[in-house]
Amino acid sequence: MGDATDGSAHLQDMGSSILLKDISVEGRTSDILIRGGLIEKILPHKNMLDYLQKLSPSIPGEDIQSVDCTGRTAMPGFINMHTHAAMSMMRGMQEDADVKDWMKGILESEKSVDEDYVYWGTQVAALEMIRTGTTAFNDMYWHPRKALKSASALGIRPVISSVIMDGGDRRRAARQKLMCERMYRSSLQWDGKAVFVISLHSVYSVSEEMIMWASEFSQRNSLLLHVHLSETLREVNDCKASHGGLTPVEYLDRLGALSERTIAAHTLWLTPKDVRILGERKVNCVHCPRTDGDLSSGYKFLYRELRDSGANICLGTDGSASSGNLDMLEAVRTSSLLQKTWREDHKAWPLEELIKCATANGAKALRLNTGSIQEGKEADILIIDTDSPFFLSPAPFLEKFIFSGRSGCVESVIAQGKFVMKDRKIRSEKKVLEHARSIIRHHMN
Ligand SMILES: [Zn+2]
Repeated sequence: MGDATDGSAHLQDMGSSILLKDISVEGRTSDILIRGGLIEKILPHKNMLDYLQKLSPSIPGEDIQSVDCTGRTAMPGFINMHTHAAMSMMRGMQEDADVKDWMKGILESEKSVDEDYVYWGTQVAALEMIRTGTTAFNDMYWHPRKALKSASALGIRPVISSVIMDGGDRRRAARQKLMCERMYRSSLQWDGKAVFVISLHSVYSVSEEMIMWASEFSQRNSLLLHVHLSETLREVNDCKASHGGLTPVEYLDRLGALSERTIAAHTLWLTPKDVRILGERKVNCVHCPRTDGDLSSGYKFLYRELRDSGANICLGTDGSASSGNLDMLEAVRTSSLLQKTWREDHKAWPLEELIKCATANGAKALRLNTGSIQEGKEADILIIDTDSPFFLSPAPFLEKFIFSGRSGCVESVIAQGKFVMKDRKIRSEKKVLEHARSIIRHHMN
């Protein structure tokens, strides 16, 4: 099954400029002008008319797509900092299993994963992420070239990686090194929208030699390094037993893998020394509460300690095979509730910090000029329909959206300056779902 027919035709055919009229931005009703992928101006309507008047010789009015956003609120797109997108066609499998059995079952399913599977699995994931307000995602999975093509076709920004998971096998390691070098070279020709990173699966599935190679390669080429880290107590105990008492954080630090370029998913089982190291190295720590709960890995994410130590805290869902979905609103809300519950402290993760973890902090980790609605930033914007029971209260928007709203309140999504969903319609959705169903049927036979 080919994918050539599924190119950029999905994107809404609109002019390159968009004017969002009368939209609420941080409590103020404004117009937002988007040009060349960037937020050019945010002004009250009357002032925007004057601004456009001055611009008119260089930008005729008919080239601007004007959208009435009365009763709508703008917020920055979510940045999902840890996914395995193509696993969106494995959801619900291995439920009620612990990490070890879950991994065994998933590895069995993955034996038949090929390029087509990754292409369509990533399309399903991209559809879901767009519907739930994510505009960029940090992915770790096989056949990354297909994932890149797939996500780019739907207009969402992929952070694509070459995965290192050699399991101590020298031939596999050599193949993965070569693949990584090739992907890196080809990434230099990418259009600047997608990002290339290196993924080290984990301390238990990658040899010491390959961890050092990947750390050195990423440092030499200033690449981000994405890794699962201290996800379970078992991982910590096994690491200590195998590496002279070092925790996974201490072990990776000794091998030179921790820096502000490191994106560490989970970081759940940490000693005070681990927290100090992650802070000193300014590591980007990604909390994935749904998966941690689903696989009963734990729930005591050390938000306050990591933040105070200097780490950059982000949020992610993980893959759908363990998180059930890729809904960042659910990840945000779950993070808050878990933190308040286990600490018995209602201020355990203040809302304004929490929302940054799901947006601006991800942008910082990925070195992207986005994550907030400000002039000069890339236009990754959600248009939220507040005309629903979830918003019927005098409380501020964010409180209602995060604690009462549903991702179904996301009415339209602009990613990198273009509509990828408008009025809840994504042009290619039906076709993607049809293809995905046939892939699943094929893989069940
Ligand atoms: Zn993961």
